[in-house]
Amino acid sequence: MKNYKMNTKCVQAGYRPGNGEPRQVPIIQSTTFKYDTSEDMGKLFDLEATGYFYTRLQNPTNDYVAAKIADMEGGTAAMLTSSGQSANFYALFNICNCGDHIVASSSIYGGTFNLISVTMAKMGVTATFVSPDCTEEELNAAFKSNTKAVFGETIANPALTVLDIEKFSKAAHAHGVPLIVDNTFATPINCRPFEWGADIVTHSTTKYMDGHGAAVGGAIVDSGNFDWMAHADKFPGLCTPDDSYHGITYAEKFGKEGAFITKCTSQLMRDLGSIQSPQHAFILNLGLESLHVRMPRHCENGQAVAEFLQSHPKVSYVNYCGLPGDNYYEVAKKYLPKGSCGVVSFGLKGGREAAEIFMKNLKLAAIETHVADARTCCLNPATSTHRQMNDEQLKEAGVPAELIRISCGIEDKEDLISDISQALAYIG
Ligand SMILES: *Cc1c(COP(=O)(O)O)cnc(C)c1O
Repeated sequence: MKNYKMNTKCVQAGYRPGNGEPRQVPIIQSTTFKYDTSEDMGKLFDLEATGYFYTRLQNPTNDYVAAKIADMEGGTAAMLTSSGQSANFYALFNICNCGDHIVASSSIYGGTFNLISVTMAKMGVTATFVSPDCTEEELNAAFKSNTKAVFGETIANPALTVLDIEKFSKAAHAHGVPLIVDNTFATPINCRPFEWGADIVTHSTTKYMDGHGAAVGGAIVDSGNFDWMAHADKFPGLCTPDDSYHGITYAEKFGKEGAFITKCTSQLMRDLGSIQSPQHAFILNLGLESLHVRMPRHCENGQAVAEFLQSHPKVSYVNYCGLPGDNYYEVAKKYLPKGSCGVVSFGLKGGREAAEIFMKNLKLAAIETHVADARTCCLNPATSTHRQMNDEQLKEAGVPAELIRISCGIEDKEDLISDISQALAYIG
Protein backbone atom coordinates (compact mmCIF):
# COMPACT_ATOMS: atom_id res chain seq x y z
CA MET A 1 0.00 0.00 0.00
CA LYS A 2 2.98 2.25 -0.73
CA ASN A 3 0.95 4.99 -2.37
CA TYR A 4 -1.56 5.41 0.42
CA LYS A 5 -1.24 7.94 3.23
CA MET A 6 -0.01 6.98 6.70
CA ASN A 7 -3.50 6.96 8.26
CA THR A 8 -4.63 4.38 5.72
CA LYS A 9 -1.48 2.27 6.12
CA CYS A 10 -2.00 2.09 9.90
CA VAL A 11 -5.44 0.62 9.38
CA GLN A 12 -5.09 -1.51 6.26
CA ALA A 13 -1.45 -2.20 5.28
CA GLY A 14 0.10 -5.65 5.65
CA TYR A 15 -2.86 -7.99 5.57
CA ARG A 16 -5.07 -7.74 2.46
CA PRO A 17 -7.72 -10.49 2.58
CA GLY A 18 -8.91 -12.14 -0.61
CA ASN A 19 -12.47 -13.05 -1.49
CA GLY A 20 -14.23 -14.72 1.46
CA GLU A 21 -11.18 -14.56 3.74
CA PRO A 22 -11.26 -13.25 7.33
CA ARG A 23 -11.46 -9.44 7.57
CA GLN A 24 -9.19 -9.30 10.63
CA VAL A 25 -5.62 -10.62 10.60
CA PRO A 26 -5.91 -14.36 11.35
CA ILE A 27 -3.90 -15.67 14.30
CA ILE A 28 -2.08 -18.66 12.83
CA GLN A 29 -1.74 -20.55 16.10
CA SER A 30 0.42 -23.33 14.71
CA THR A 31 4.04 -24.20 15.36
CA THR A 32 4.35 -26.04 12.10
CA PHE A 33 3.07 -26.24 8.52
CA LYS A 34 2.14 -29.25 6.39
CA TYR A 35 3.47 -30.10 2.90
CA ASP A 36 2.48 -32.68 0.29
CA THR A 37 6.02 -33.68 -0.62
CA SER A 38 9.48 -33.48 0.86
CA GLU A 39 10.55 -31.70 -2.31
CA ASP A 40 8.09 -28.88 -1.59
CA MET A 41 9.55 -28.50 1.87
CA GLY A 42 13.10 -28.79 0.59
CA LYS A 43 12.59 -25.72 -1.58
CA LEU A 44 11.69 -23.71 1.52
CA PHE A 45 14.81 -24.87 3.35
CA ASP A 46 16.92 -23.87 0.34
CA LEU A 47 15.23 -20.44 0.32
CA GLU A 48 14.19 -21.28 -3.27
CA ALA A 49 10.50 -20.83 -2.44
CA THR A 50 8.83 -18.59 0.14
CA GLY A 51 6.58 -20.20 2.72
CA TYR A 52 6.45 -21.39 6.28
CA PHE A 53 7.76 -24.47 7.98
CA TYR A 54 8.30 -23.70 11.65
CA THR A 55 7.12 -20.76 13.77
CA ARG A 56 10.49 -20.34 15.53
CA LEU A 57 11.64 -18.74 12.24
CA GLN A 58 8.52 -17.26 10.66
CA ASN A 59 4.77 -17.19 11.07
CA PRO A 60 2.18 -15.68 8.68
CA THR A 61 0.50 -13.56 11.39
CA ASN A 62 3.84 -12.00 12.26
CA ASP A 63 4.63 -11.39 8.62
CA TYR A 64 1.34 -9.57 7.98
CA VAL A 65 2.07 -7.24 10.88
CA ALA A 66 5.76 -6.84 9.99
CA ALA A 67 4.72 -5.90 6.44
CA LYS A 68 2.46 -3.18 7.85
CA ILE A 69 5.31 -1.75 9.94
CA ALA A 70 7.66 -1.90 6.91
CA ASP A 71 5.10 0.05 4.89
CA MET A 72 4.61 2.62 7.65
CA GLU A 73 8.37 3.20 7.96
CA GLY A 74 8.86 3.22 4.18
CA GLY A 75 11.12 0.17 4.28
CA THR A 76 11.45 -2.88 2.04
CA ALA A 77 11.39 -5.71 4.60
CA ALA A 78 10.70 -6.22 8.29
CA MET A 79 10.49 -8.87 10.98
CA LEU A 80 8.97 -9.08 14.44
CA THR A 81 10.95 -10.14 17.49
CA SER A 82 9.89 -11.16 20.99
CA SER A 83 10.97 -7.81 22.50
CA GLY A 84 12.59 -4.49 21.74
CA GLN A 85 15.76 -5.82 23.36
CA SER A 86 15.96 -8.72 20.91
CA ALA A 87 15.22 -6.36 17.99
CA ASN A 88 18.21 -4.18 18.87
CA PHE A 89 20.44 -7.17 19.61
CA TYR A 90 19.55 -8.89 16.31
CA ALA A 91 19.92 -5.68 14.28
CA LEU A 92 23.45 -5.19 15.63
CA PHE A 93 24.56 -8.82 15.80
CA ASN A 94 23.39 -9.41 12.22
CA ILE A 95 26.38 -7.34 11.04
CA CYS A 96 28.76 -7.23 14.05
CA ASN A 97 30.95 -10.23 14.85
CA CYS A 98 33.50 -10.88 17.57
CA GLY A 99 36.29 -8.34 17.01
CA ASP A 100 33.98 -5.69 15.55
CA HIS A 101 33.07 -2.26 16.93
CA ILE A 102 29.95 -0.10 17.24
CA VAL A 103 29.62 3.68 17.51
CA ALA A 104 26.57 4.45 19.64
CA SER A 105 24.88 7.52 21.06
CA SER A 106 25.44 7.62 24.82
CA SER A 107 21.87 8.80 25.25
CA ILE A 108 19.93 5.56 24.78
CA TYR A 109 17.62 3.24 26.70
CA GLY A 110 19.37 1.68 29.73
CA GLY A 111 18.63 -1.85 28.53
CA THR A 112 20.25 -1.16 25.17
CA PHE A 113 23.21 0.55 26.86
CA ASN A 114 23.77 -2.61 28.94
CA LEU A 115 23.26 -4.82 25.90
CA ILE A 116 25.99 -2.98 23.98
CA SER A 117 28.40 -2.11 26.79
CA VAL A 118 28.21 -5.35 28.83
CA THR A 119 26.63 -8.29 27.02
CA MET A 120 27.92 -7.63 23.51
CA ALA A 121 31.33 -6.75 24.98
CA LYS A 122 31.42 -10.32 26.38
CA MET A 123 30.89 -11.51 22.81
CA GLY A 124 33.90 -9.50 21.68
CA VAL A 125 31.98 -6.60 20.14
CA THR A 126 33.27 -3.31 21.56
CA ALA A 127 31.66 0.12 21.44
CA THR A 128 32.47 3.81 21.62
CA PHE A 129 29.71 5.99 23.02
CA VAL A 130 29.36 9.57 21.84
CA SER A 131 27.08 12.36 22.99
CA PRO A 132 24.14 12.88 20.62
CA ASP A 133 25.17 16.55 20.68
CA CYS A 134 28.80 15.89 19.64
CA THR A 135 30.37 17.80 16.77
CA GLU A 136 30.95 16.12 13.41
CA GLU A 137 34.66 15.97 14.24
CA GLU A 138 34.02 14.21 17.56
CA LEU A 139 31.65 11.80 15.85
CA ASN A 140 34.09 10.96 13.04
CA ALA A 141 36.86 10.44 15.60
CA ALA A 142 34.84 7.63 17.23
CA PHE A 143 35.13 5.36 14.18
CA LYS A 144 37.72 2.59 13.91
CA SER A 145 38.72 0.33 11.04
CA ASN A 146 36.55 -2.43 12.57
CA THR A 147 33.44 -0.25 13.09
CA LYS A 148 30.41 -1.97 11.55
CA ALA A 149 27.41 0.08 12.68
CA VAL A 150 26.23 3.35 14.22
CA PHE A 151 23.34 3.27 16.69
CA GLY A 152 21.04 5.91 18.20
CA GLU A 153 17.45 6.61 19.29
CA THR A 154 15.23 9.18 17.55
CA ILE A 155 13.97 10.31 20.97
CA ALA A 156 16.00 8.73 23.75
CA ASN A 157 14.28 6.90 26.60
CA PRO A 158 14.40 8.35 29.25
CA ALA A 159 16.76 11.28 28.52
CA LEU A 160 14.42 12.69 25.82
CA THR A 161 17.36 13.88 23.72
CA VAL A 162 16.59 14.10 19.99
CA LEU A 163 19.04 12.52 17.55
CA ASP A 164 20.35 14.60 14.64
CA ILE A 165 19.73 11.68 12.27
CA GLU A 166 21.29 13.38 9.23
CA LYS A 167 24.51 14.12 11.12
CA PHE A 168 24.77 10.51 12.31
CA SER A 169 23.87 8.97 8.93
CA LYS A 170 26.37 11.18 7.09
CA ALA A 171 29.15 10.06 9.41
CA ALA A 172 28.09 6.40 9.19
CA HIS A 173 28.00 6.45 5.39
CA ALA A 174 31.33 8.27 5.15
CA HIS A 175 32.78 5.27 7.00
CA GLY A 176 30.93 2.70 4.88
CA VAL A 177 28.58 1.45 7.62
CA PRO A 178 24.80 1.67 8.22
CA LEU A 179 22.98 3.81 10.76
CA ILE A 180 20.55 1.86 12.97
CA VAL A 181 17.89 4.02 14.64
CA ASP A 182 15.58 2.88 17.45
CA ASN A 183 12.39 4.76 16.56
CA THR A 184 10.30 3.50 19.52
CA PHE A 185 9.29 6.85 21.05
CA ALA A 186 8.67 8.82 17.85
CA THR A 187 6.96 6.00 15.90
CA PRO A 188 6.63 6.41 12.12
CA ILE A 189 3.68 8.72 12.79
CA ASN A 190 6.03 11.46 14.01
CA CYS A 191 9.33 10.58 12.33
CA ARG A 192 10.46 8.25 9.56
CA PRO A 193 14.23 7.93 10.05
CA PHE A 194 14.76 6.47 6.55
CA GLU A 195 13.83 9.87 5.11
CA TRP A 196 16.85 11.31 6.94
CA GLY A 197 19.38 8.67 5.93
CA ALA A 198 18.94 5.89 8.53
CA ASP A 199 19.38 2.41 7.04
CA ILE A 200 17.80 0.12 9.64
CA VAL A 201 15.02 1.02 12.09
CA THR A 202 14.18 -0.90 15.25
CA HIS A 203 11.21 -0.73 17.61
CA SER A 204 10.14 -1.83 21.01
CA THR A 205 6.57 -2.44 19.85
CA THR A 206 5.79 -2.84 23.57
CA LYS A 207 5.47 0.95 23.73
CA TYR A 208 3.27 3.20 21.53
CA MET A 209 2.79 0.66 18.72
CA ASP A 210 0.95 -1.76 21.01
CA GLY A 211 0.06 1.24 23.14
CA HIS A 212 -2.16 -0.60 25.62
CA GLY A 213 0.45 -2.21 27.85
CA ALA A 214 -0.65 -5.61 26.62
CA ALA A 215 2.16 -7.33 24.70
CA VAL A 216 5.97 -7.18 24.83
CA GLY A 217 7.45 -7.20 21.33
CA GLY A 218 9.94 -5.73 18.89
CA ALA A 219 10.47 -5.09 15.20
CA ILE A 220 13.36 -4.57 12.76
CA VAL A 221 12.82 -2.74 9.46
CA ASP A 222 15.28 -2.47 6.55
CA SER A 223 15.22 0.62 4.32
CA GLY A 224 16.68 -1.44 1.48
CA ASN A 225 19.07 1.45 0.81
CA PHE A 226 22.38 0.24 2.21
CA ASP A 227 24.65 -1.23 -0.46
CA TRP A 228 26.27 -4.16 1.39
CA MET A 229 28.15 -5.33 -1.70
CA ALA A 230 29.83 -1.92 -2.08
CA HIS A 231 31.38 -2.60 1.36
CA ALA A 232 31.71 -6.34 1.00
CA ASP A 233 34.98 -6.47 2.98
CA LYS A 234 33.18 -5.12 6.07
CA PHE A 235 30.15 -7.39 5.87
CA PRO A 236 31.29 -10.93 5.06
CA GLY A 237 28.14 -12.35 6.68
CA LEU A 238 26.00 -10.74 3.98
CA CYS A 239 28.47 -10.74 1.10
CA THR A 240 30.13 -14.17 1.20
CA PRO A 241 28.50 -17.63 1.09
CA ASP A 242 26.81 -18.77 4.32
CA ASP A 243 28.04 -22.31 4.97
CA SER A 244 25.29 -22.79 7.55
CA TYR A 245 22.72 -22.07 4.85
CA HIS A 246 23.66 -24.04 1.74
CA GLY A 247 26.28 -21.56 0.63
CA ILE A 248 23.82 -18.72 0.01
CA THR A 249 25.24 -15.19 -0.38
CA TYR A 250 22.42 -13.06 1.02
CA ALA A 251 23.36 -9.75 -0.62
CA GLU A 252 23.54 -11.44 -4.03
CA LYS A 253 20.41 -13.56 -3.80
CA PHE A 254 18.12 -11.08 -2.02
CA GLY A 255 19.67 -7.75 -3.01
CA LYS A 256 19.79 -4.57 -0.98
CA GLU A 257 16.04 -4.81 -0.33
CA GLY A 258 15.93 -8.23 1.30
CA ALA A 259 19.40 -9.38 2.37
CA PHE A 260 19.44 -7.97 5.92
CA ILE A 261 16.07 -9.33 7.08
CA THR A 262 16.50 -12.68 5.29
CA LYS A 263 19.87 -13.27 6.95
CA CYS A 264 18.52 -12.11 10.32
CA THR A 265 15.61 -14.57 10.04
CA SER A 266 17.46 -17.55 8.61
CA GLN A 267 20.47 -17.29 10.94
CA LEU A 268 19.62 -15.40 14.13
CA MET A 269 15.97 -16.37 14.45
CA ARG A 270 16.89 -19.96 13.58
CA ASP A 271 19.69 -20.15 16.15
CA LEU A 272 18.45 -17.85 18.92
CA GLY A 273 14.68 -18.08 18.46
CA SER A 274 13.39 -14.76 19.82
CA ILE A 275 10.23 -14.88 17.72
CA GLN A 276 7.17 -12.83 18.67
CA SER A 277 4.18 -15.03 19.39
CA PRO A 278 1.41 -14.76 16.77
CA GLN A 279 -0.98 -13.79 19.60
CA HIS A 280 1.23 -10.81 20.43
CA ALA A 281 1.48 -9.90 16.74
CA PHE A 282 -2.33 -9.83 16.60
CA ILE A 283 -2.51 -7.55 19.66
CA LEU A 284 0.23 -5.36 18.19
CA ASN A 285 -1.77 -5.02 14.99
CA LEU A 286 -4.84 -3.82 16.93
CA GLY A 287 -2.58 -1.13 18.41
CA LEU A 288 -1.23 -0.15 15.00
CA GLU A 289 -4.77 0.31 13.68
CA SER A 290 -5.18 3.34 15.95
CA LEU A 291 -1.57 4.55 16.26
CA HIS A 292 -2.22 7.55 13.99
CA VAL A 293 -5.18 8.56 16.18
CA ARG A 294 -3.42 8.02 19.51
CA MET A 295 -0.04 9.67 18.83
CA PRO A 296 -1.39 13.21 18.30
CA ARG A 297 -3.31 12.91 21.60
CA HIS A 298 -0.22 11.66 23.46
CA CYS A 299 1.65 14.67 22.07
CA GLU A 300 -1.15 17.13 22.90
CA ASN A 301 -1.25 15.85 26.50
CA GLY A 302 2.57 15.80 26.77
CA GLN A 303 2.75 19.40 25.57
CA ALA A 304 0.00 20.59 27.96
CA VAL A 305 1.55 18.82 30.96
CA ALA A 306 5.06 20.11 30.07
CA GLU A 307 3.76 23.69 29.83
CA PHE A 308 1.90 23.36 33.14
CA LEU A 309 4.98 21.98 34.91
CA GLN A 310 7.27 24.64 33.45
CA SER A 311 5.21 27.40 35.03
CA HIS A 312 4.85 25.66 38.43
CA PRO A 313 6.88 27.15 41.32
CA LYS A 314 7.78 23.75 42.82
CA VAL A 315 9.30 22.49 39.57
CA SER A 316 12.96 23.31 38.87
CA TYR A 317 13.22 22.13 35.25
CA VAL A 318 11.26 20.32 32.53
CA ASN A 319 12.67 18.21 29.66
CA TYR A 320 10.34 18.17 26.65
CA CYS A 321 11.46 19.05 23.15
CA GLY A 322 8.13 20.76 22.42
CA LEU A 323 9.00 23.56 24.87
CA PRO A 324 10.73 26.60 23.34
CA GLY A 325 14.09 26.84 25.10
CA ASP A 326 14.47 23.08 25.48
CA ASN A 327 17.92 21.91 24.32
CA TYR A 328 16.26 19.89 21.55
CA TYR A 329 13.54 22.33 20.48
CA GLU A 330 15.30 23.26 17.23
CA VAL A 331 16.34 19.70 16.28
CA ALA A 332 12.81 18.53 17.05
CA LYS A 333 11.33 21.21 14.75
CA LYS A 334 13.27 19.55 11.93
CA TYR A 335 12.74 15.86 12.70
CA LEU A 336 9.48 15.94 14.68
CA PRO A 337 7.35 18.73 13.18
CA LYS A 338 4.10 16.99 14.20
CA GLY A 339 5.14 16.45 17.81
CA SER A 340 7.46 14.11 19.70
CA CYS A 341 5.74 11.82 22.21
CA GLY A 342 3.85 11.85 25.49
CA VAL A 343 6.85 11.39 27.76
CA VAL A 344 7.92 14.39 29.84
CA SER A 345 10.57 14.46 32.57
CA PHE A 346 10.99 17.09 35.24
CA GLY A 347 12.81 17.88 38.47
CA LEU A 348 11.29 18.93 41.77
CA LYS A 349 12.92 21.70 43.79
CA GLY A 350 12.52 19.71 46.99
CA GLY A 351 14.78 16.86 45.80
CA ARG A 352 14.30 13.21 46.75
CA GLU A 353 11.84 13.94 49.56
CA ALA A 354 9.59 16.05 47.32
CA ALA A 355 9.66 13.36 44.65
CA GLU A 356 8.51 10.74 47.14
CA ILE A 357 5.64 12.95 48.36
CA PHE A 358 4.59 13.73 44.79
CA MET A 359 4.58 10.10 43.69
CA LYS A 360 2.64 8.96 46.77
CA ASN A 361 -0.17 11.42 46.11
CA LEU A 362 -0.89 10.79 42.45
CA LYS A 363 -4.37 9.40 41.93
CA LEU A 364 -4.80 9.03 38.18
CA ALA A 365 -1.20 8.52 37.05
CA ALA A 366 -0.07 5.04 38.09
CA ILE A 367 3.42 4.22 39.35
CA GLU A 368 4.88 1.87 36.74
CA THR A 369 8.19 1.05 35.07
CA HIS A 370 6.37 1.39 31.77
CA VAL A 371 5.93 4.22 29.27
CA ALA A 372 3.98 4.92 26.10
CA ASP A 373 0.71 3.44 27.28
CA ALA A 374 -2.83 4.74 26.72
CA ARG A 375 -2.98 5.16 30.53
CA THR A 376 -0.77 7.79 32.14
CA CYS A 377 2.07 6.38 34.20
CA CYS A 378 4.79 7.88 36.28
CA LEU A 379 8.20 6.89 37.63
CA ASN A 380 10.79 8.29 40.02
CA PRO A 381 13.91 6.35 38.96
CA ALA A 382 15.75 7.11 42.24
CA THR A 383 13.22 5.19 44.33
CA SER A 384 12.53 2.41 41.82
CA THR A 385 14.60 1.37 38.77
CA HIS A 386 17.79 3.06 40.04
CA ARG A 387 17.32 2.61 43.80
CA GLN A 388 20.67 0.86 44.26
CA MET A 389 22.42 4.16 43.45
CA ASN A 390 23.17 6.98 45.90
CA ASP A 391 22.38 10.63 45.08
CA GLU A 392 25.86 11.24 43.69
CA GLN A 393 25.70 8.22 41.37
CA LEU A 394 22.19 9.15 40.27
CA LYS A 395 23.37 12.61 39.23
CA GLU A 396 26.22 11.11 37.23
CA ALA A 397 23.84 8.69 35.47
CA GLY A 398 21.64 11.60 34.39
CA VAL A 399 18.72 10.55 36.61
CA PRO A 400 19.05 12.83 39.66
CA ALA A 401 17.02 11.93 42.75
CA GLU A 402 14.42 14.65 42.11
CA LEU A 403 13.71 13.49 38.54
CA ILE A 404 10.21 12.31 37.66
CA ARG A 405 9.30 10.80 34.33
CA ILE A 406 5.66 11.00 33.37
CA SER A 407 4.28 9.23 30.33
CA CYS A 408 1.11 11.06 29.35
CA GLY A 409 -1.63 8.75 28.14
CA ILE A 410 -4.64 9.62 26.04
CA GLU A 411 -6.97 10.65 28.89
CA ASP A 412 -8.28 14.23 29.14
CA LYS A 413 -5.40 16.66 29.64
CA GLU A 414 -7.34 18.70 32.21
CA ASP A 415 -7.70 15.62 34.42
CA LEU A 416 -3.99 14.89 34.08
CA ILE A 417 -3.05 18.44 35.03
CA SER A 418 -5.42 18.43 38.04
CA ASP A 419 -3.90 15.16 39.24
CA ILE A 420 -0.36 16.52 38.95
CA SER A 421 -1.43 19.80 40.52
CA GLN A 422 -3.04 18.20 43.59
CA ALA A 423 -0.02 15.88 44.10
CA LEU A 424 2.36 18.87 43.91
CA ALA A 425 0.25 20.63 46.56
CA TYR A 426 1.32 18.02 49.18
CA ILE A 427 4.96 19.09 48.89
CA GLY A 428 5.68 21.44 51.79
C1 LIG B 1 11.54 -0.23 26.09
C2 LIG B 1 12.57 0.09 25.10
C3 LIG B 1 13.42 -0.90 24.59
C4 LIG B 1 13.34 -2.33 25.05
O1 LIG B 1 12.16 -2.87 24.61
P1 LIG B 1 11.44 -4.15 25.32
O2 LIG B 1 10.27 -4.36 24.43
O3 LIG B 1 11.11 -3.75 26.70
O4 LIG B 1 12.43 -5.26 25.27
C5 LIG B 1 14.34 -0.53 23.63
N1 LIG B 1 14.44 0.74 23.20
C6 LIG B 1 13.64 1.73 23.68
C7 LIG B 1 13.79 3.11 23.18
C8 LIG B 1 12.68 1.44 24.65
O5 LIG B 1 11.89 2.41 25.13
